[in-house]
Amino acid sequence: MSINFNIATINQCTEAEGPNKRLAIWFQGCNIQCAECCNPKLFSLNKANIVSLDELIDIIKNANRNFEIEGVTFLGGEPTMQKGLSELSKSIQKLGLGVLLFTGRVIEELPEELVKSVDLIIDGQFEKDNIEKERNLIGSKNQRLICISDRYKNSLDWFYSIRSKKVELNVSETIHMTGDVL
Ligand code: SF4
Repeated sequence: MSINFNIATINQCTEAEGPNKRLAIWFQGCNIQCAECCNPKLFSLNKANIVSLDELIDIIKNANRNFEIEGVTFLGGEPTMQKGLSELSKSIQKLGLGVLLFTGRVIEELPEELVKSVDLIIDGQFEKDNIEKERNLIGSKNQRLICISDRYKNSLDWFYSIRSKKVELNVSETIHMTGDVL
């Protein structure tokens, strides 16, 4: 049976969603629904864009050819609701690219196979009364940066650095604001 993903949007090359140039995938659907989440449009579990594993890998290969991305970031919505996420992640790593996962769940709740398939995890729900002011891109202080592999161990400064570019505007059929939108 083919593996399909429910995807809200893809940015083929961004510098606002983690260290280095990355392709970012916003998955559709989140059943955690933290208060004052910055992406409530992605709560709905309805189908947005259904993309197969093979199609997604082709998109990532193209981005790698065109933009020389270093890795892929999974965001949402809640990426871990997507069946087959570890297969996607392993396929991305086979291309030599790194994988960064944002999840509203804590790492202890995630399947071991999924954890082992990524390089860096930012975990935990967004807590509106516990806003993060020091680390880039991370919404609240409870959310942990957890290195699964060595790949980003020397890149964690990115989350603490003062960056000139904090927000990107992407214009296609709609306008998407990404990065440090809080
Ligand atoms: S887990 Fe993420 S997408 Fe889901 S409600 Fe919380 S902050 Fe929003």
